[in-house]
Order: sequence, then structure tokens, then C-alpha cells
Amino acid sequence: MTNVQQNLNQITNNVNDACTRSNRNPSEVTIIAVTKEVSVERTEEVIQSGITHLGENRPEGLKKKLDAIKNNIKWHYIGTLQTRKVKSVINDVDILHSLDRLSLADEIEKRAVSTKDCFVQVNVSEEESKHGLSMEAVEDFIKNLEKYSRIRVIGLMTMAPITEDESVIRTVFSNLKKLQLKIAGQQIPYAPCTELSMGMSGDYEIAIEEGATYVRIGTALVGKERVEIK
Ligand SMILES: *Cc1c(COP(=O)(O)O)cnc(C)c1O
Repeated sequence: MTNVQQNLNQITNNVNDACTRSNRNPSEVTIIAVTKEVSVERTEEVIQSGITHLGENRPEGLKKKLDAIKNNIKWHYIGTLQTRKVKSVINDVDILHSLDRLSLADEIEKRAVSTKDCFVQVNVSEEESKHGLSMEAVEDFIKNLEKYSRIRVIGLMTMAPITEDESVIRTVFSNLKKLQLKIAGQQIPYAPCTELSMGMSGDYEIAIEEGATYVRIGTALVGKERVEIK
């Protein structure tokens, strides 16, 4: 049995410790509970434990949770978003973590009824299997977003490679932080780029030490259920 409250207490302690080690204030770090693999019931338990940010990665899963949950939640879309799915998703989410191409920006511009906070997804480790822009492509991409009135780039997002080598993970996160600072320094009105979405169940403490402001935590917090999402 997964005890969500116990998990959250443990994770909160770990977050606080990571902040202490890196001289940061825990208030700078927001925990997003990734509920993509669990039921509405488990998600409600997560909310009971005090979490107010939820992340989903499929339109169907998001819809199911939105229909059932009426609490005041900040909704995060953390997965690859197909262009044809933008219409059904974009006005239901507060923050999109996976902006990675202009065709997606075009569709958001067309479908969003108000300005949308977005993370640009970066494939720092350049693994073939991962979505996201290369580090080199990010600045030009953001420049190209100037004419999109409905897109506000609040920061950069990445996923670290799956490896036992902590130093590889740390380098990925610290490189993204450097790029984030560089872009933030340009003071682009539509791209303040003050945030960093990085860190999952296995690597959130490293991510926080390297500057994460949003961590996306699934299994370590909510466990894993095999739920049918219809
Ligand atoms: C599933 C997922 C997570 C959470 O992963 P865990 O390892 O279960 O914490 C975080 N970010 C993204 C983009 C995901 O798809």
C-alpha cells in the first residue's frame, strides 16, 4: 500500500535537505505530483496530503482528472503534445512543460484563449529517444516566439538520462541552469525564463541542488497503479 502522506513527508524532508545543501529557500521549489499512472482516488489522496500542483501527460488522463476533481489545482501538462491535441488540452492547463517546436506554438496561438505559461523542453543529453530542442537551438527558437502573443516562456524543462552515474545527471541539470540564466539575462518581455522544470522521482534532489524550481514527482509520491485510461 502506498501511503501518499508518508511519501510526501519524506520527499518534503529531502527537498528541504537539498535546499539546505545548496543554500536555497524551500519556498523556491514547487512539487508537481505526476498522477499520470494513478487513479482519481489516488489523486484525491494526493490532494488531501496538501499538494496543489498536478501533472498529467495524456489528454485522456487529464480529462478524467479534470472531470472528477473540483479542488483549486494548478494543472501541468508534462508530456509531448501532439499538434492535433492542442485544442482539447491547452485551455485546461495552467502550465505546459513541453513546448518544443514552432508548429506546436502555431497551434497554441490559434487555440489558447489567453496567454499560456510554457516551458521550452530541452533535450540536454541529446538522446535520440527524447523530445525537446538541442541546447544550441533554444535561443533562436525563443527569438522566433516573439510574434506569438499567447505564449510566455517562463523557463526551461528537461529530463535527465537514466543512468547510475550521478555526475552525468548533475551536468545535464547544471547546463540547463546556465542556459536559463543566459536567457533570463536577456530580459525578453515574452520570455522571462526564470524557472527550471527538472527532477523526477530518482533525481529530484540533484535537480534542486542544481537550481530546479519545479520538480515533477510521480512514483516516489503516488506509487504506481495500472489504471485503464479510456
Ligand atoms: C512520468 C514523468 C515524470 C514522473 O516520473 P517519476 O519517475 O515517476 O517521478 C516526470 N516528468 C515527465 C515528463 C514524465 O513523463
